[in-house]
Formats: sequence, structure tokens, C-alpha cells
Amino acid sequence: MRIETMAVHAAAEPDRETGALSPPIHLSTTFEHPPDSGELDGYLYSRYGNPTQDRLESALAALEGGAACLVYGSGMAAAAAVLAALPPGAHVVLADDTYFSVRTLALDFGRRWGLEVSVVDVSDADALRGALRPTTRCIWIETPSNPHLKVADIAAAAELARGAGAILVVDGTFATPMLQRPLALGAHVVLHSCTKYLGGHSDVQAGALVVADAGEMLDTLRAQRTVLGAVAAPMSAWLVLRGLRTLACRMEWHCRAGQAVAEALAEHRAVERVHYPGLPTHPQHALARRQMKGFGGMVSFHVRGGRAGALAAAGRLRLFRNATSLGAPESLVEHRESVEGPRSPTAPDLLRLSVGLEHPDDLVDDLRQALEG
Ligand SMILES: *Cc1c(COP(=O)(O)O)cnc(C)c1O
Repeated sequence: MRIETMAVHAAAEPDRETGALSPPIHLSTTFEHPPDSGELDGYLYSRYGNPTQDRLESALAALEGGAACLVYGSGMAAAAAVLAALPPGAHVVLADDTYFSVRTLALDFGRRWGLEVSVVDVSDADALRGALRPTTRCIWIETPSNPHLKVADIAAAAELARGAGAILVVDGTFATPMLQRPLALGAHVVLHSCTKYLGGHSDVQAGALVVADAGEMLDTLRAQRTVLGAVAAPMSAWLVLRGLRTLACRMEWHCRAGQAVAEALAEHRAVERVHYPGLPTHPQHALARRQMKGFGGMVSFHVRGGRAGALAAAGRLRLFRNATSLGAPESLVEHRESVEGPRSPTAPDLLRLSVGLEHPDDLVDDLRQALEG
């Protein structure tokens, strides 16, 4: 079955009791069990598992081609779960361009938990190989990455990870399973912020981990989630599941609009440089073509005139809303340095766009009027 069909039908069996096609939202935190506490129908208590959450997990595991999926209350809760599952003293190689809170998580909290962290440009295979140590247990890449849309070679990183006895974690939030299947390329874990494209409507916060194999890592993650309690609420699981049903066609439009916007920006005289894997000038364009089915809806660019030029352009945009997050129908613009704060590694002239589901020509018109002041 093709992935577009799977997005519609995975874990979409009608409700056993009523035949309802839209799945029920099970809000119950507790489930009746026999006096000896044996689990009836597989459910006991919501923090351990819930039928609505189970449906989402089955659907995501199918879409990524993984053995199992665990969903969390946010993408960050999912990210923290992976690092917390590593043995103390483990060395983590972290990509230099990642979602800013993932960087904070690894550098501040990971270190506090006894992990050693090296930050490396993972688009450079020699740099990645050189960063490995006998204690390396995890390579963490994000591809395409935030906010510079760097593309890392998943298969090459997976091979290095296997040789080092480490796991490869791929944050695939920007690509979604529609555009990229990291487990098929050898990754051990795929992470998604379901808050973004998977939910797709700026109205739900959730995260997911899909693991390639059922094994020790999965057992650790499951036991840890049950005790630490970072589960997704049933309503959140339901909203993400609903988002998945339209993911294929939404991603197709995001790709089309993203490409149009990137090309228009690349030609504009008020723009210094554009980061978009679908442009032939992108340093990993050939890799992106090999590894991805489309280039997605995330674009970033440097505006001439520095910080002031970027902020002025962002302020003149009308269709693009100044707001954080991504992956929704409405297009968003963000001055990343302002959002990331004083420790931001992002250039002050950079704007990041989440290109939404409007007509690409309207988006290009809006950008032109904003850049031309
Ligand atoms: C948003 C995001 C996260 C964190 O997800 P939350 O749901 O906001 O906790 C992690 N990685 C990437 C690439 C993201 O865009």
C-alpha cells in the first residue's frame, strides 16, 4: 500500500461498538479490571495507555515503517525521553543546526544528566566521523534542519552510528513521513513534533518517537514514559490522528508553495541568500533529491540591511503572520534571533518562513511588497 493511502487508512478501523468511522475519544483515565488487577481489554490507567493514543501510535508506526511508536505531550517531551534513556556517561553527537530547544535540552539538561555532548556540522561526513568516541551512544541529526534547512545524509550517518555502537536519532519534523523515511535508510529512532505538520492546524501540542526495532530501547522508553508521565492527552492524540488523514495532500501543496516562494526570493534584489533544499544552489540539493520525495514548506532567507532590514520586512508582511511554530494552513514568518534570545546562534538578518496552504502567487506578492517597502 502506498503511503498516501496508508495516511488515510492506518488504524482507521470503525469503532467496534458503534461502527463510527471517526474514532471515539476515550477520556477515561481508568478502566475496570478484575479484583486481582489483571488488565481487562489491555487498559488499566491512562498514563499506561489509552485506546485513542494507541490508534495514533499504530498509524505513525505504519507511516514510518517502524516496529512501534510512542506519543508524548510535546515534541520536546519526546526529545527529552530519548536523551534520558541513554546510559549515564554516554557521549552524544548533536547536529550544529537543530531546533533551538533541542540544543538547550542537550547542552544544559543532557549535561546535567551526565551526558557528554559534542556539537558537529553533520552535513560534513569527515567532521561527523571525527567526533565519534568509544563512548558515543547517540548521533542526533535534524534534516532538513532548523533554521538553515541543512540536509544531512541519513544513510551515511546510520552506517557511522552502527559502526560506533550508537543509535541514530533523526528529527524529521520538517519533512514528515510523506517526504522522507529515515528508518528505511537505517535510522534507529525518528522524532516528530506532531504540533507541526502532522497535527497541521496550530491547535494541538504533541510529540512522537518511532523506533525501527522492538528491543531494549523501546522497553526503556515505554517504562520511562509510564513513570515520568509525559503522555499525550487523548484529545491531542485524536487531533493529530485527524491531521494525519490529510497529510499527503497538505504536504504536496506545502512543497509546491515552498518552491515558488524560495524561487521568487532567490531572484529578489533585497534578498542576500535563500536556504531551501529545492533550489539547485542549495549545498546538499543532490542529496535532498535522493533522500526526499519533496522539499517541504520551510524556507529561510537573509534580508539585505541586516537586523533592521529583516525586522522591517517582517513587519510589512500581511498574509504571513509574525508567529512561531510551523506546518499550519496559515503562513508564518519569524525572526529567529529574537525568538531564540541572547544565546541564539542565528544571524540577525535571517527570517524563517513556514509556507502555508494559501495560493503561492498571493504569498509571493506579499513577500515582494514587504521587501520593496
Ligand atoms: C517544534 C519542534 C520541536 C519541538 O516540538 P514541540 O512540540 O514544540 O515540543 C522539535 N524539533 C523540531 C524540528 C521542531 O520544529
